Amino acid sequence: MNRHARSRTTVYVAGALALLAAATGCTGGGDSGAASAALVPASGSPASGSPASGSPATAAPSPSRSAGPSPTASPSGGPAAGDAAAWAKWHLTPLPPAPPAPADKPVKLARTGPVPVFSEVKTSDKVVFVTIDDGAEKDPKFVEMLTDLKVPVSMFLTRDIVKDDYGYFKRLQALGNHIHNHTVDHAQMSKVPPEKQKSEICDAQAALTQQYVTPPLLFRPPYGDGANTPALNTAVQQCGPRAVVLWRESMQIHDMQYQAADKKLRAGDIVLAHFRGPKDLKGETMTQMFGELLARIQEQGFAVARLEDYIEAPAA
Ligand SMILES: [Zn+2]
Repeated sequence: MNRHARSRTTVYVAGALALLAAATGCTGGGDSGAASAALVPASGSPASGSPASGSPATAAPSPSRSAGPSPTASPSGGPAAGDAAAWAKWHLTPLPPAPPAPADKPVKLARTGPVPVFSEVKTSDKVVFVTIDDGAEKDPKFVEMLTDLKVPVSMFLTRDIVKDDYGYFKRLQALGNHIHNHTVDHAQMSKVPPEKQKSEICDAQAALTQQYVTPPLLFRPPYGDGANTPALNTAVQQCGPRAVVLWRESMQIHDMQYQAADKKLRAGDIVLAHFRGPKDLKGETMTQMFGELLARIQEQGFAVARLEDYIEAPAA
């Protein structure tokens, strides 16, 4: 496991607080209610052309590319940031570019044995990591948005929720984003027997590997449920993923739900969002929700880095 894990990382500890917070994941979710802003392409639509709610009206950071050695994601460089015009198209203030990927990965995964459970990555880089779950909403505009903004995301996909359109996620994968395992049918793992936990993970692993070629390295249990149980850890080990990944913040519609009492992002936090559309977002679209998420991150001065750039996979 990650020998650098911070004390507040949840490792093999069935913390009631963590479970309580985890239980808010993957549900319809309330919303803490910041005013909505129109986060649609400028070419596309009505509404106000104002920036995201709450965004300071200060000058945008310079439209520089990534500070990394390459403008594209590479093993040694951080993801490139989209240019200023791209951010303006979505009525967003650019995020700072992510720093180059660390050479010495803060998370080192072993090939065998118990898998670590973590909800943040130890780093002093002012970055957070965005993860998106399930796969229900397959909005083409979101592919356009990520293509424009070059914000890295990690996807935790549920087989039966994505199987009607595996191709949608291939388009997101083609942008450099990784796909991970989020069960066959979104079962609540602690409520099913060990053999069912195993099939939920192994069958999803097989289908996702067949579709997306690279076997998922990470697993996230629906609702975060059962993450710290021996049964789940054993099932994950049997199926191939080498870590269980939870989260510190959960995006709702306009704002994040924080586990930290001060409601502030911290370096290395993993943020949960979902592929959701208007039906689950009180009429908001996936791109509006995601724009609000980026605005909340930008307001706090963080870049979005690629989670997999901070993880050393086991040697093949
Ligand atoms: Zn889920």
